[in-house]
Amino acid sequence: MELMKKLSLAPGISGFEGEIANIIESELNEHVDLIEEDSLGNIIATKKGESSTKVMLAAHMDEIGLMVKYIDKKGFILFTKIGGINDQMLMNQKVIIHGVKGDVFGVIGSKPPHIMKSAERKKIVEYDKMFIDIGALSKEEAEKSVSLGDPITFKGDFEEFPNDLIMGKALDNRIGCYVMIETLKRVNTKATVYGVGTVQEEVGLKGAKTSAFKLNPDLAFALDVTVSGDHPGVEMKEAPAVIGKGPAVVLVDAGGRGIMVTEKIKKILTEAGKRGNIDYQLEVSDGGTTDGTAIHLTREGIPTGVLSVPTRYIHTTVSVASMKDIKKTIDLLVEAINNIE
Ligand SMILES: [Zn+2]
Repeated sequence: MELMKKLSLAPGISGFEGEIANIIESELNEHVDLIEEDSLGNIIATKKGESSTKVMLAAHMDEIGLMVKYIDKKGFILFTKIGGINDQMLMNQKVIIHGVKGDVFGVIGSKPPHIMKSAERKKIVEYDKMFIDIGALSKEEAEKSVSLGDPITFKGDFEEFPNDLIMGKALDNRIGCYVMIETLKRVNTKATVYGVGTVQEEVGLKGAKTSAFKLNPDLAFALDVTVSGDHPGVEMKEAPAVIGKGPAVVLVDAGGRGIMVTEKIKKILTEAGKRGNIDYQLEVSDGGTTDGTAIHLTREGIPTGVLSVPTRYIHTTVSVASMKDIKKTIDLLVEAINNIE
């Protein structure tokens, strides 16, 4: 739980994943043969095996966030969005601007509803009508601690809920990072296993592309989260995976425009579930995709599977997931990898 909490609270928007890479490195140092960072910032931990088979585990380290775009003459900060953000979730968030001289606390402000016309009040306030207030009184003062291009993360909390549920920010995809770390600690196989913390997934699956090319694995698994269809406002037919029933073994995502998992990969994962008596759910989805999409189209094509942990309120600061599901995901993956020929 401590590691999950640490990963959730650590800041790391796309392109600024250094702190997450450091956590992965310190956790895995004693458990693997080699840890390296490539030129894009992916962290690659290698656990060597006797056979020539190579298995890649990919978990993206980046979270969605914001970036400083403009500082106005009164010292307010305008921002651009990094990754898929619904403007509704931005309103009145607490944020941290990671400046070169240190962290700067701020809040997202906007026009008060009191002075909005009634038609205006019904509309969603778009992100470019919002700004960050850091308490500065002038542009000059703001510029002492904030610069264009500084990454901005949401200030989140981490809570333990009943029923082994957890609540935190950036569960997409620190859950995947946690699964990757714990799986690499536990696997015992003849294959060489690479645990990769990938960069810039939320802005175009970039780190997965380059790291898969470098490693050229025989088999890869992307580890991520998926929408949970078990709360008001969602129907099971829209999101068939739910919290508490184990990992989602993805068959198809983004209506086939993402990944279409082969029969062989499906069998490796589902048979591991049956053998180990580990719950899993099958998922065919219309929206969203993962690093698996980039990996399976690398070189001549790499057989790739996707395991996702059902998570509520993805891409907000208050995502909810189940530690039981996370543990089952690790169990399933270890069982699958240990039995790869
Ligand atoms: Zn993700």
